This record gives sequence, C-alpha cells and structure tokens, in this order.
Amino acid sequence: MENKCRFNTGLLHEASPKEFGNRQILPPISQVTAFGYESMEELEKVFSHKSMGYAYTRIGNPTLAAFEQKINALEGGIGAISCSSGMAAISSSLLALCESGDEIIAGRGLYGGTIDLLRDLEKLGIHTVYADVLDGDSIRRLATERTRAVFGEVISNPALNILDIREAASAAHEAGVPLIVDSTTATPYLIRPFEYGADIVVHSTSKYINGGGNSIGGIIIDGGKLDWNFEKHSALSDHKKYRKMAFLLKLRTDLWENLGGCMSPMNAYLTYIGADTLGLRMQHICENADALARALSEEEDISVNYPALPGNPNHSLAKSQLGGHGGGILTFRAGSKERAFAIINSLKYALIASNIGDIRTLVIHPLSTLYINSDEESTEAAGVFDDLIRVSVGIEDREDLIDDFLGAVRGSRK
Ligand code: PLP
Repeated sequence: MENKCRFNTGLLHEASPKEFGNRQILPPISQVTAFGYESMEELEKVFSHKSMGYAYTRIGNPTLAAFEQKINALEGGIGAISCSSGMAAISSSLLALCESGDEIIAGRGLYGGTIDLLRDLEKLGIHTVYADVLDGDSIRRLATERTRAVFGEVISNPALNILDIREAASAAHEAGVPLIVDSTTATPYLIRPFEYGADIVVHSTSKYINGGGNSIGGIIIDGGKLDWNFEKHSALSDHKKYRKMAFLLKLRTDLWENLGGCMSPMNAYLTYIGADTLGLRMQHICENADALARALSEEEDISVNYPALPGNPNHSLAKSQLGGHGGGILTFRAGSKERAFAIINSLKYALIASNIGDIRTLVIHPLSTLYINSDEESTEAAGVFDDLIRVSVGIEDREDLIDDFLGAVRGSRK
C-alpha cells in the first residue's frame, strides 16, 4: 500500500481490491474443492502455470487470493500466502528455510505453541538456540554457519517484550539470514515490520486481523528484499531461478501446497471482512488497554506489565516502534494462584477464554492452560508465573472494564 492516505482509508480503498466481478464489492466465498474446465488442454495449462487459473483449493482459491492481496498490501510485501492457522504459517516458513542440521535463533518468551513447535523441529534435526533477550548482540553471539533464520515476536505473548526490529534485522543480515517476525500482537496497524528491516512477517490471523473470534487462520508475507545465498540456504536451491522471490515461490508452488495447510475459503472471507475494521478496533483496544493498565497499576498489591506504561522496560520501544501504543494485551500478578483464580472468576464482562485479539475482553491464567505442558525454564522466560493473569482487552466501554477489574481485584482482598 502506498503511503498516500492514512491507515483506515488505505485499508478500505487501496489495500482492498475494488471489485470482484458482477460489481461485487466483497470477494465471493468460493466454497469449492475444485474448479471445472471445458477441456483437458485448459486444465493442463493451469497445472503447468502456463495460464492463470484455479484448479484445487489447497493450491489456490480466489477468496484466499483476495485476502492475501489485502494483507500483503497492508504490510507492504511482495506476496502473501494464507494458511490454516498461525502455527501453519510459522511452521511452513521455518520448514521452507531449514534442513536437518540447520539452526534457528529465537528469543525466549515466545508464544507457547511456537516453543512447542521448535521442540518438535528438534526431532527433524533442526535445532533452536535461544537468546534471553533477542537483540543485535545475542544474535551475533549465537550465529553459526548453520544458522538459517532468526525468529522473534514483535510484541511477545505473554511476556510483552518488544523486539527492536532494526537491530535484530541488521544482526541477522550480517549472518546472511532472514529475520522472521511474528507480528500477531502488533498488527500492521501498529507497525509494518518490513520498514524496519524484517524479511518475513507471519501472523496468526485468528486474533486481531480477524477480530471477531470466528476463524482460525494465518498468513506469511514476504518482504522480498533479501538476496538469498543459495549455497547457505540450500533448502531454497530448487527455486533459485526465482531469486528474491525464491522463499515465496518455494512455498507457493511446492512446500505450502504439499504440507496442506491452506485456509478455508469461508475463513478467508470472514477474516477479510473482519480486517476492514482493524484500524478502528486496534486504536480503541490500545486506548482501553492503556487506561486499564494505568488504573490497575494504582492498586498496591498487584504488579502490572504493559509495554506503554511509564517505567516499563519496553516503554521506549513502544514509543519508537509502535507510535506510543502498547498493544491490546496486559498482564498482572495477583500474589497467588488462588487470588488470580478468584479475580478471574468474579469478573463480570471478561470471558474466560484461551484466545487474544477478540473484540470481547478475554482473560486467562496462562500457567494452568497455555503453559500446562511447558518446562519451568520456558514458562519463566515467558514471564508466566502461578499468580499471572493475562488480559486481552476488547472494545467494551472503558469505564465498565475498569470498574469490573477494580471491583474484582478489590473484592479479592482478604
Ligand atoms: N503467534 C502468536 C503470537 C500467538 O499468540 C498465537 C496463538 O495464540 C499463534 C502464533 C498461533 O496462532 P493459531 O492459534 O492461529 O495457530
């Protein structure tokens, strides 16, 4: 998307295709498995990429294409590939780049599912080395000749650390590898990571991009700037004729279709229309989260983590990278697991649910749910303790949310 207008106007008028045939202003839901052709010759041309067209939804579908075009434009990439989930986007990206014996550098404190995936990849011979803090120094220290990618979350969930993308990207590039960022919790409303040097952006679109909590999905967007060294990235060598597009085209014409993690057309449609209100929702959510974090931090017996709060270690990166916003998630420590449960159980409006990025405020005790299978080292690194409550703030009226949370916190005092 060119920077001619502001976010919401650009989202509706530049990032979104204008018309989809028959004057339809939204993409039709092409809820089909396969596409029928008049002759075998025509279908042969589609399969051999000699003519444009769709053959089978796992390989391509017009509703998915409309959704990919929109998110790609929002992020400013050269192309995007939608996936069945955020985890499918992350796993496909890493598998496209790594072979047995290769290494990934990642920051500690990632989303628990990603940590579990990296553990699964160990069994395929793909090893992850963790940095306590993912920054230029740690990446330079950990990089070896087997390193193939650096992976971090823009705002980590639930540790809420903000990645200094410029610094991480320049250290990754010195090592000749891409910086892949998971920007699920930041969204293109708060930051376009390619402008800071990231090479590949992944999202779980199940969260803020969809916003309505109605579809699991993911997307991979390629910034298209990296000059791949095909000797180093031998996983891409069969696609080297595509040069800077080798990663995207390996996925598109090969790995993504073979792994089989495509998004369903219905989910692509629901997420496409959900994304139209991303700017409005994120602005309201961030303002709500900020107000709630400030109100809670006045309470003496709980400690609040929200990146935009003055005094928070991530405050200056929130300012320099996220326009002063801290995102839609905050966490607080209640002092004990029993009190954390009592607070959660007495909330009137927040739903107890294992998700983030919904328009409804959602609350969870991460240690007994999302991190139930994680070891102590990973949980501590993710800032998950037995008294921690995670709040994914929604779009409810701010005053009601604050009254609800303050009532629950104060009511839980013995
Ligand atoms: N990345 C982050 C930061 C997440 O919070 C999540 C899910 O909570 C995922 C990835 C995985 O997304 P999905 O559930 O769509 O597979």
